[in-house]
Amino acid sequence: MYQKIKDIDFISMPPSKALFGMLPEELKDLMAELGQKGYRAVQIAEALYRQRVTGLEEITALPVSLRDELEAHGYGIEMPEIVQTARSVDGTERYLVRLADGETVETVWMPDGDGGERGDGSEAAAEEEATEGLEGNSEPRRDMRNMGALERNGYSRATICISSQVGCAVNCQFCLTAKLGIKRNLTAGEIAGQVAAVLNRHGVKIGRDRINLVFMGMGEPFLNYAEFIRSVHLLVKSIGIPESRMTVSTSGIEPSIRKFAEEPLRPKLALSLNASNDMVREQIMPITRKWNIAALLEAVQTLPLGKREWVTFEYVLLGGINDQPEHAREVLELLQGMKAKVNLIVWNPGPGIAYTQPKPEDVAVFQKMLIDNGLPAYIRRPRGRDIYAACGQLKRTLETSPAATAPLVEIAPAASPRG
Ligand code: SAH
Ligand code: SF4
Repeated sequence: MYQKIKDIDFISMPPSKALFGMLPEELKDLMAELGQKGYRAVQIAEALYRQRVTGLEEITALPVSLRDELEAHGYGIEMPEIVQTARSVDGTERYLVRLADGETVETVWMPDGDGGERGDGSEAAAEEEATEGLEGNSEPRRDMRNMGALERNGYSRATICISSQVGCAVNCQFCLTAKLGIKRNLTAGEIAGQVAAVLNRHGVKIGRDRINLVFMGMGEPFLNYAEFIRSVHLLVKSIGIPESRMTVSTSGIEPSIRKFAEEPLRPKLALSLNASNDMVREQIMPITRKWNIAALLEAVQTLPLGKREWVTFEYVLLGGINDQPEHAREVLELLQGMKAKVNLIVWNPGPGIAYTQPKPEDVAVFQKMLIDNGLPAYIRRPRGRDIYAACGQLKRTLETSPAATAPLVEIAPAASPRG
């Protein structure tokens, strides 16, 4: 069945006249087509990506005649729209985001993140380590007028988790998104647009508030490679979030990992290892039959790492399946000599998935064995469990069966204030 995966890059996307998602040079071409000067493209890019406007009428730098002309040609902004919100007791928010063709994906906002960056040598990690234990401290420390939207609420940073596809084709046995199958790829504008919509909702000003991004929502970014990379360019160059604050997670699409290693603009990489040998991995991630662990590790080693950069290996612990001391020993062997760190993720249960969570003492032993043998290992802080916002739980339960999200604290149409 994984022969099919080759074709996923060609899953057609709706014909689009969305301005949001166009690169600056494409806007320039469009303006030239309409007989306009180049600076109009700059004004549009500024409105789309810096001011994050949602309607043509808000691009006030343009003359009304040009806005009308764009509209007459069928152009619109088409920023994805938050249509539902669930808020967790821990501040995590989970959104149902509607795309122009009516498809929906999920996006998550985590004030203070989930600790996933710890130990990878990034800017985000340094902040994480410096502020550990201070989360949610709402004591005003400085003049409120100079504070960003996050700081005013007592947070030092936030992480946004974005989707790259509607559903997923990879079929990992422990993941709820897999149950959806694959509907289609997202465009770069739809990927970056989730970020813009969430930034608008929280009144975030880039440059003042510290925002991290993880490509860890619905879908496999490396099976939508071209649009994923395009979205990175938009996010870095136009929206203004540095790539050092981004992490992309892949289930292990070997050819894409190799391509990724050659990109000039690259987020950090996290590989979802999830098993210590091919036999276990094939059972929980059948895609291992196409690219086995050895092939993936070889591909990962082509990444040119910065001095302080480490590759993250994610490892979802499933009770009795991959969480025993012999598995920890195998992980140590596999990653020996690599600049690697491991993020241990306690499996989040989901309806219709027949695994069990690991015992807390097994998690502790597993982590200790890795650390004691020189492999940095962190346990991912669970976020938004009560709203099913945790890893691998992004399936459109908000839309399809509200009952499945019973413990919601709030479920309401999202307001979208802009700061
Ligand atoms: N498709 C990509 C990115 C999205 S999944 C990938 O698989 O890497 C992001 C992370 O969530 C992956 O590490 C995945 O292994 C993990 N995950 C999936 N389902 C999970 C679950 N039910 N509980 C905990 N982690 C899960
Ligand atoms: Fe897809 Fe990632 Fe879920 Fe696997 S874990 S099914 S690759 S989203």
